[in-house]
Amino acid sequence: MDFREFHFHPSVAAGIRAAGFERPTPIQEKAIVPLMKGLDVMGLAQTGTGKTAAFALPILNRLMDKKRGLVRALIIAPTRELAEQICRDINTLGGQTRLRCMTLYGGVPLSPQIQKLRRGAEIIVACPGRLIDHINRGNVDFSLLEVLVLDEADQMLDMGFIPDIRKILKRVPRKRQTLMFSATMPDEIRQLACEILCKPITVQVGNTAPADTVSHFHFPVAQDLKTSLLLKILKDTDVGSVLVFTRTKHRAKRLSEILSKAGYGSTSLQGNLSQARRQAALNGFRSGKFQILVATDIAARGIDVSNVSHVVNYDAPATPEAYIHRIGRTGRAEKSGKAFNLVTSDDSAIVRSIDRI
Ligand code: AMP
Repeated sequence: MDFREFHFHPSVAAGIRAAGFERPTPIQEKAIVPLMKGLDVMGLAQTGTGKTAAFALPILNRLMDKKRGLVRALIIAPTRELAEQICRDINTLGGQTRLRCMTLYGGVPLSPQIQKLRRGAEIIVACPGRLIDHINRGNVDFSLLEVLVLDEADQMLDMGFIPDIRKILKRVPRKRQTLMFSATMPDEIRQLACEILCKPITVQVGNTAPADTVSHFHFPVAQDLKTSLLLKILKDTDVGSVLVFTRTKHRAKRLSEILSKAGYGSTSLQGNLSQARRQAALNGFRSGKFQILVATDIAARGIDVSNVSHVVNYDAPATPEAYIHRIGRTGRAEKSGKAFNLVTSDDSAIVRSIDRI
């Protein structure tokens, strides 16, 4: 299939070329036509499938001929990193459209966001808490909102955001196009989808299983030998950028320090960091200044770093869904990646579940 078949506005088509996309990914092939028809869509797709462009392109196309300066599309995402990534993708794809996209999330001062809102934006990407703050202060007008997107709905559930989502839903027009994306479909998400989507088309890719561009390796190891094993693996393997997951913030920080001492460019991403330091760690990893990023599940939500060659599960994830999310950062956009799992005898149950998916 070719992007030309969607007959996007020339300015949107220019954005696709600027992004360097040659062919639509499977989720884009399936979702773009119903989205352009204005239908509600439930997208079952994990990070790395091209889901952002799948909803961003129809939104940009729809807003091309609309009067500017009014908020017409709202995308809600669980983390500031994901919000930034979505806005970045929209700015790339919409580079020729003169449509304005901005982010709203907590951990940074309110006033620059208020000023930006006053200058006008057509597309807002927001995290729930800060968005409610702005709504309650009357800073944002959703009366002409046309499209609402809930991205990574299962992560929002895990992070306890569903009550906030319900509050936000009360403050946006009922007549709208609603899209929901989720990597997995727990009961609560199924229920929310029934409530908020109107006769939705369900689009599924990847069967909510890991991308088939990722190969998986288990390394049985004793708990106290994990670090030595990791150092040995790093020494013996031809690795590019490596994302390492630990169970706790403390372990992430400590492991990153050990890797730095061993001569690797390493940094860690933990919930405790200020926004500026998180961004510096991420930028450093993206630019290649740090070859290794050590993170916890929470800290790593929604981060977009393509070109990760290896994901190392230094500590096993708690659930198969968390595993899918972790390894969603490698093997992206049809590149190949490897997942190395350091597993101890305590991990046998989760390893069986991971093997099943
Ligand atoms: P996402 O699932 O939206 O996080 O996208 C994962 C990555 O795939 C991003 O880095 C996108 O820029 C990239 N991508 C999205 N659509 C395409 C496409 N049609 N061709 C090549 N890369 C793409």
